[in-house]
Amino acid sequence: MKADIDLDIGRKTFASGLLPELIDVLRRSRSGDLVAVVGDEESLGSELETWCRFTGNPLLEAAVDRGRARWVFRCGAVPISLAETRPVGSRLWLYANFDCNLHCDYCCVHSSPAAPRRELGLARVQQIAREASELGVKEIFVTGGEPFLLEYIGDLLAACAGAAPTTVLTNGMLFVGRRAESLQTLPRDRIALQISLDSATPKLHDLHRGPGTWARAREGIKRARSMGFRVRLAATVSTEAEAEEFRQFLDEERIEPEDRVIRRIVLRGAASEGDAVTRADLVPEVTITAEGVYWHPVGAADTDLLVTHDIFPLFEAFAAVRRAFDREGEHANKLARIFNCA
Ligand code: SF4
Repeated sequence: MKADIDLDIGRKTFASGLLPELIDVLRRSRSGDLVAVVGDEESLGSELETWCRFTGNPLLEAAVDRGRARWVFRCGAVPISLAETRPVGSRLWLYANFDCNLHCDYCCVHSSPAAPRRELGLARVQQIAREASELGVKEIFVTGGEPFLLEYIGDLLAACAGAAPTTVLTNGMLFVGRRAESLQTLPRDRIALQISLDSATPKLHDLHRGPGTWARAREGIKRARSMGFRVRLAATVSTEAEAEEFRQFLDEERIEPEDRVIRRIVLRGAASEGDAVTRADLVPEVTITAEGVYWHPVGAADTDLLVTHDIFPLFEAFAAVRRAFDREGEHANKLARIFNCA
């Protein structure tokens, strides 16, 4: 992980002058900066982690690099909305697959045409849907990769919609042929399509997602609307200026507030820049992939956000996430924020 500030502490520990150095580096940094601390005392790790939690500067990474210990922490909080509260378990995310027809440069789970298809599969999704409805899940989100690469996407969405109102996240480029036919059969009052569109013009969108993708996304939005689906537009942006420009576009397009999603690039997966978020920053949203149950969709391929490999029984998986959240709360849940992916 690249850092904004590098601090070589040699053999220093908290008992031998490290604290003033950390205070100095915080004074020199801006909120959100990443600081890499490189030292020769690997055993310092647990004390440094405690300091990070205690001071609200989350530890993001600990590694040994060329024989030296390296820790990266973030200065302060990331700008995530505090406006909402949402009980753990009210939202359920399903990573239907990880392969994708696009190769976006900030994809938080490294999806691409070359990514292996790690699919949940129809039978498992049907079981999840059955158990989710008994657990009082209020909303289901289906994501990928690109879920419309799956031939059985229609059946998968029908199963989810039977359990709770369902939103499928898509780049909007595959609403043709059999996929379009399977969409036609789905209940419009239970399924919404959240289509990625990063900017008002092709420039930014195509820069991150590939030439020509903006125009194809616009076409997909039109098609989905013509089939009578509710369409939410979701932009991934780097700056407040980009967010504001997109908001103006949404105003011009008369998009309802509940159909707007604007989120920041997160420093995970393929992204080389963005907001660095940890468990401590995120209120969990139970997220299920072929590998297991994760804390939140933004890190559904990262071991630090894996809660358990066991998906079933689902009530146990939910309980595991709640227990992990309680444990996190013992340290620093005052740092936890809602981070909206939908
Ligand atoms: S951001 Fe979405 S569309 Fe882009 S590679 Fe990742 S999953 Fe595919």
